[in-house]
Amino acid sequence: MSERTNMTDDIYFAPLLPWQQVLWSQLTQRVLAPQQSLPHALLAAGMQGMGKRAFVWRLVAWLLCRVRDEHPLGACGHCESCQWLRSGTHPSLQALPLISLPVSGDNAYNQEIASSTAKDKKSTKTASNASLKIKVDDIRALQPFIYQGGQGMRICVLDHAEKMTIAAANALLKTLEEPQAQVYLFLISDAPSQLLPTIKSRVQQLALQRIDPAISLDYVTQALGSTVNHREAVGAAAIEQLIQLANGAPLAAITLAQAPWYSKRALWLTTWQALRSGKRSSVAASDYWQTQLGIIEFIQLSELMLLDMRRVSLGFDALQKDVKLAEILQDNEPSESVIEHFSYSLQQTKIALQQNVQEKFAYDNLMQELVSL
Ligand SMILES: [Zn+2]
Repeated sequence: MSERTNMTDDIYFAPLLPWQQVLWSQLTQRVLAPQQSLPHALLAAGMQGMGKRAFVWRLVAWLLCRVRDEHPLGACGHCESCQWLRSGTHPSLQALPLISLPVSGDNAYNQEIASSTAKDKKSTKTASNASLKIKVDDIRALQPFIYQGGQGMRICVLDHAEKMTIAAANALLKTLEEPQAQVYLFLISDAPSQLLPTIKSRVQQLALQRIDPAISLDYVTQALGSTVNHREAVGAAAIEQLIQLANGAPLAAITLAQAPWYSKRALWLTTWQALRSGKRSSVAASDYWQTQLGIIEFIQLSELMLLDMRRVSLGFDALQKDVKLAEILQDNEPSESVIEHFSYSLQQTKIALQQNVQEKFAYDNLMQELVSL
């Protein structure tokens, strides 16, 4: 079995995520029932790490499967349609932007949370979707496929739908207003607030956002327990903390646990304290951290620490109970404006890195800023 085949298996034929079971049976029963069908346009929206893309690609595979009636729990994996998906050449499936086609990108789980898991310097420059745009010509290029008529179901998937330009959104709107028999559109968005209201009002949102905390806890526990390279067994309190830090998104919690920077939070606090007390110079701290983490990862780590500092400054408890953040803040709490200033520096550093600023230079600057946090 080739690597590519394994990858499509992960996407189209993966086990259903446990918190999506109810929605899955509702939708599939609706498709299988006589006289009923799916809405022509569906939106999978919500924060990263909840499994939106996993759900959509799995449902797409099932809808296209030739023997779906006999396989209500997921595409069969063997029929002609499933074979086409495996080879990435399904004639009844179109996806935008092109990087979203599972066979040409990361798997759907990882892609969903790619922005928080940049693994090397190269990917820190390319993982960002900031420059991604879905243009009007991209939408127009779909039209012949949508309007070709004929037998059988056809499906379009628009990932990162919020990245449509206004012209692209207007072109899509026309399509949404003229639903074609047997044509289904799936929109996926991590930032649905950026979608045009006129688009949102013409698509039916999939109820993917409510996740039972007990199911989430169970899933993350099992996933981390079975991760071979995970350093040690993770306790229940640690897992609850991960889920809280990931805003309740189970897949994001798992990614967080596996991020190389997550285990360096105590070290970050030690450095911060040493810088503030003058026990360590910013140059020494910079040299040291450059051996520990890539700059993007250091920024992610710093953003997490700032998140909790903000919480404390607003009178909430720190989410992180396994490091001495709350204790340190009791003695010396940075003001809100200082927190905001450091946060701004982190954002500026990200922009500078995209413009090819040297990592060492960026690290030196950030450590200087950290002295006065
Ligand atoms: Zn099949």
